[in-house]
Amino acid sequence: MTRLLPTTIAGSLPKPSWLAAPEVLWAPWRLAGEQLAEGMRDAVLVALREQEAAGIDIVGDGEQSRQHFVHGFLAGIDGVDMTRRRRIAIRAGRYEADCPTVTGPIRRAAPVHAEEARFARAHTRNRLKFTLPGPMTIVDTLADEHYGDRARLALAFAGVLNEEARELAALGVDVVQLDEPAFNVYMDEVRDWGIEALHRAIDGVTCTTAVHICYGYGIEANIAWKRGLGDEWRQYELTFPHLARSRIDQVSVECARSRVPMSLLSLLEGKDVLAGCIDVTSPQVETPEEVAEVIREALRHVAPERLQPCTNCGMAPLPRHVARAKLRALAAGAALVREELGTQAPAAASAP
Ligand code: ZN
Repeated sequence: MTRLLPTTIAGSLPKPSWLAAPEVLWAPWRLAGEQLAEGMRDAVLVALREQEAAGIDIVGDGEQSRQHFVHGFLAGIDGVDMTRRRRIAIRAGRYEADCPTVTGPIRRAAPVHAEEARFARAHTRNRLKFTLPGPMTIVDTLADEHYGDRARLALAFAGVLNEEARELAALGVDVVQLDEPAFNVYMDEVRDWGIEALHRAIDGVTCTTAVHICYGYGIEANIAWKRGLGDEWRQYELTFPHLARSRIDQVSVECARSRVPMSLLSLLEGKDVLAGCIDVTSPQVETPEEVAEVIREALRHVAPERLQPCTNCGMAPLPRHVARAKLRALAAGAALVREELGTQAPAAASAP
């Protein structure tokens, strides 16, 4: 029996300062060798316990074992030279990053995240979500010297993601989520090959599948980009109809303190909607009432059985105490609305 409005997180959580430099993306590790491996495992334990203590229902490992949500996966893939870095403009030129280079055929020589998934699975009884970068976002965070075609490269990555995702499901992961912030940037490509790549990535995966599409971390380049998007952010309007027809089970989106018109959520009929109720771009902690207000608004467009209160995006760059407080606010806000639904609509509250 699953309770109504189960809470979850988009993905990353801040790392402890003994593991990596705090409050930065691509934070350098502060340990090495076996100490680093042990530190990562310890950090996963902390991340799981903190989510459970806050009252989060569907937990993740907080991406404690990866330096970055894309490059952490790429490090385990043949055909990607992690040492050959090129500074390139990514997300349609929004910002520059030092990206590894594709130098040969993409292949998964060995499992990438299996050990991490096995460890997380063994240390929580909650439902477990595991995140992977989506094919389009991977392609957009790489220099390519081999394929020469973004769609072809994305489909090659979808193949290795599929091997990985099937394995994660077999290890007892309940939700495999593909992170596709690039879906908010290249809307034509989403239609032309983005959905096809997602389908290839989830083909035959036996657990619940999700895609996360957001407006990014609270870095300056993203904040400036959002300022230029106008009063209403309607990017989702172009991609949701494709996603609604897709075989993906869940869509994780940004709602909190954003200019996304909530009515767009109705375009996702038939899907579970993971509505972002926590703003990750500001250290200001939401009140439970603020969270509840976003949930109530989302419920005008999404059936209660389909709604999961979530964070807008990963919380990696936030101070730890802030992320912890935001987790508690998320759970408390969901509890408020759950209670309201219980008194107003007993039938809905007793649904599985
Ligand atoms: Zn995100």
